[in-house]
Parts: sequence; structure tokens; C-alpha cells
Amino acid sequence: MSSGLAVAVRELRHALAAWRADAADAELIRTRALNGINEMLSYCRARVPYYRDGDYPDEPLTSLAELARLPSLTKPEVLRAGVDRFRTPGLAPGRYHRDVTSGSTGVRLEVWHDVDAYGYHGATVLRRFLRSGYRPWWRIAHIKPYPRPVRWFQRLGLFPRVVIPAGQPEAALARQVLATRPGLIMGYPVMLRALLHTFTDAELTRLRRTLRMVMTDSELLTDEVAALLAEGFGVPVFDEYSAHEVLTVSTQCRHGALHVDEDRVWLEIVDDQGRPVPPGTTGSVVVTHYRERAMPLVRYALGDRARLLPDGDCPCGSAFRRMRLVDGRVNDFVTLPGGRRVYSAVFLGLAKQTPGLAECMVRQDASGQITVHLIPEPGGDLSFDQVVTAFQNRFDEEVAAGVRLRFERAERVALTAGGKGRFVESAYRPDTGHHPDTGHRPDAG
Ligand SMILES: [Zn+2]
Repeated sequence: MSSGLAVAVRELRHALAAWRADAADAELIRTRALNGINEMLSYCRARVPYYRDGDYPDEPLTSLAELARLPSLTKPEVLRAGVDRFRTPGLAPGRYHRDVTSGSTGVRLEVWHDVDAYGYHGATVLRRFLRSGYRPWWRIAHIKPYPRPVRWFQRLGLFPRVVIPAGQPEAALARQVLATRPGLIMGYPVMLRALLHTFTDAELTRLRRTLRMVMTDSELLTDEVAALLAEGFGVPVFDEYSAHEVLTVSTQCRHGALHVDEDRVWLEIVDDQGRPVPPGTTGSVVVTHYRERAMPLVRYALGDRARLLPDGDCPCGSAFRRMRLVDGRVNDFVTLPGGRRVYSAVFLGLAKQTPGLAECMVRQDASGQITVHLIPEPGGDLSFDQVVTAFQNRFDEEVAAGVRLRFERAERVALTAGGKGRFVESAYRPDTGHHPDTGHRPDAG
């Protein structure tokens, strides 16, 4: 069997398993999750250095509540302990996907996902699409800060997707979205909102002829922005919550509830002391992606704030628990001369693609000067100057030519306890009446 066909067969098998997983009763879902977590823990103790050498009990957990007795992990802790120690040693390169993430903080972490966990995740994404009412032949305009690979089913004409680079001026984004004649637009809430402002009424009318739904990702979607997008585009809006380290955590059903993908991940909400809180109480998100074997992260703290909804039936038929994000990643932006906004997601895309860059952070001062604080990879082959040149070249190509960024070498990027940092911050607000004649044309530093 060719490897392409093997992948297709494996993914179809996952799709069948995932399709009905959320329709089981809540008790069965929890039993399966507990078994999944115990299998993962037993694997971790046997195979993964960090857990083998750490203080993890030998006996299986007898309830999901016992999970909270194990320590949680933050991104800084994983980096400090050594990322390699979380990976299964000796894994053949074909058995896992590598995903370099800057997360929402600018701190890079190379996450590995084994092909089975990754494949099952794909199946849950398929479930999300089909349950929302998406039809596999609808064209997708996906606004993304970096390119995505073409998948086997896309070569067959299913889920036809046009990736529209997010770093372009809004007028160019709008033109490309229109030209796609999409049934579905996917992107960050902040970019979709900007897009909405860019379209003329005539263009919106044209867009609505094909558009059936909007999907948002990667930052907090407030009720206000959700309503604005739904009304502006004239179609339903579906949100999701995910992170590179654990992939999708939850997705919104057609009744507006954000259901946790409990056939892949187990979600806990904890207080400041790390103790689980009951449904209805706000706390920090801790996630265990229990199908992961390449780089298992037991009780990974994502740093976002959320609460679980009280147990109860959702009209959509899913028995997966429902959650609500309280606050989360906000897509901050800097403003270029001329007023164009460049969002943090775009800088994250640049950071991800710049070789030799370990961490970075972007600041714009009140005069408009944009400074990239940059940490080269320790022990890397590239000098600071080479990394700077690579970053500036990418910025020129993908965002705007002629804007000189200033670069400073940084020792470390400040993070909060939850591992979050403000990746982009701007004190420059040209629309608040400050229009400096000079200073908003940044010079090379
Ligand atoms: Zn539902």
C-alpha cells in the first residue's frame, strides 16, 4: 500500500471513531478519558525521561479528580527542564510531526505530535466542520500568517482551501477573499473585523452570494465581536479554542456552546493554588492531551482564564462538557506610517519563519518607532546580525517594504506565571490625535 493511501486509510478510520464519540453518555465519555489518561501516564513513566525520573505514581488513577494530584506544567517549566526530556527517545522521524510554535508569547517551543494523535485530531476537526453544516466542496478562504501544507483530501477537491497571507494590507486581503468566492472564511477575529470595514456594500453583497459561515480561531472572540461578525457577514460564526502544544481544546457547536474535545483532551479549571474549581467558577486552563505519545504534556497550563458550564444537555446532542473563555489572547497591533495596522499574529508568523530566532517581542513607542527585541537561538549557527537581516527581509517581503524596524538584543522575554507575555504592545495611537510629524518613520537601529 502506498504511504499516501495508508495515511488516507488511517485518517478515515480515525474519522469513523471520532464521529460518534461525543454522542456517548457523559459517564462513558469520562470512563474513556480516564482510561486514556492512565494509558498515557503508564507510557510516560516507561518511556519519557521527564516522567520516568519525576515524581509520578506507579498506580493508575481511579478517578479523573485524582489527576489534580499530579503537578501541572507551564511553558517556562518545560523549557527550563529541557524540551528533549518530554519527548519519546528514538522515535523515527516518520512517526511524528514537528510544530514550531511561538505561541502567543514569542517564546519558541518545538512541539512534537505523533502521527496517531495528529490523525485523530484531524478527525475531530472534520467532525467540527461537518457538524457545523459545512459542505466539503465549499471553498475556504483561510487568512493565515504562514503557509499551510496541502492535504491529500484537498488534492481530491475536498475542503478546497486558499490560504491568504495575513501580512498584506487590508485592501489586498479583501480582494483575495472576494476572488476566492468562499463558502467559508477562516481567520482571527481582529482580522475579520478589519476585513468587514474594508468591504464596500456592493462587495459584501457579492460575498454573501457564496458565503455560508465564518470560523474564528487563535484569539478570544468576545460576544460583541461575534455579534458584529455575524451581522456584518450575514452568516453564523463558529469559534474554537486551541494551542499548538495540545492542538484543539474546544469547538463551538451550532447552538453556540464551546464543547471540550473530551475524546482527545481532558480539561481542568484550577484556582491560583492549582486546585480544581467547580463548574461556574472562573480559573486557569489546564489541559492534558492524553492521546499524545511523541511529546506528552501531562496537565499543561495554557495560562488562559475560563470556566466550565454546569453539566447539562446541549440541544446539539454532544455530551462533551461545555466551557467559556473569560479572557485570552488578544491580538494587539502596531500601526505603520499611513495608518496600516500589523497584528501580533503577523509578527508571530515572521518569528516562526525566521531561522536562528529563539524568542522575540515587539514594542512600538508613542512616537511610532517599532522595536523588535530579539533573542538568537543559544548555540545557533547564525549571528544576531544575520537573524536581524532575515527578520527584516521577511518583513519587507510579507508585510511592507521600506519600513525600517529597530532591533535590540534581549536576554529574555518576560512572561507571567501562566507563561503568557505581551508579545506586541504599542503606545502609538495615531487616531487619538497624536500625529507626530517625525518619528513614525522608524530608522534602522
Ligand atoms: Zn452543543
